[in-house]
Amino acid sequence: MANIVAIVGRPNVGKSTLYNRLVGKRDAIMDDHSGVTRDRHYGTGEWTDKRFTVIDTGGYVHGSDDIFEGAIRSQVEMALEEASVILFVVDIYDGLTGLDNDFAKVLRRSKKPVYVVCNKADTTERVQMAGDFYALGMGDVYPVSASNGYGTGELLDAVTSHF
Ligand code: GDP
Ligand code: MG
Repeated sequence: MANIVAIVGRPNVGKSTLYNRLVGKRDAIMDDHSGVTRDRHYGTGEWTDKRFTVIDTGGYVHGSDDIFEGAIRSQVEMALEEASVILFVVDIYDGLTGLDNDFAKVLRRSKKPVYVVCNKADTTERVQMAGDFYALGMGDVYPVSASNGYGTGELLDAVTSHF
């Protein structure tokens, strides 16, 4: 059975950083200047005795005419079709944005499990701000720091419970 975890969300929330942490090696194609990942990338993650495929999405460019059209095509539709579990990454610094809500609208229609991952929860103070994202109405929120690893164990426990 294919255990596929797709990472989706608007640009710069930390999808590629989270991907690198889950896969444990640096093989997402990064653009150092914009933080945009140019191509979809696949890697293998492991947690306890479970193995799974992680997909880093986001192969579209900032400032395109209709960023969400691009986002739907390249990320959300793919994720809904291919993934067994979807990680919807948001940025705890920025709070809930319009583009987050656009993603949420589409993701809510999915029958697949969607986890709201509140990234950049680097400090205790930041962790507490994750509560704001309950407003999405998408269930539990998972504060994590893709940079320092905070919260990723709890997230992986939940994600791999499906495998
Ligand atoms: P993507 O566009 O969603 O793939 O985002 P990236 O992974 O490229 O990250 C965008 C920016 O956020 C980069 O400057 C990262 O270093 C930063 N970033 C990613 N994760 C974290 C985190 O957990 N904490 C902080 N403080 N910054 C982060
Ligand atoms: Mg990226």
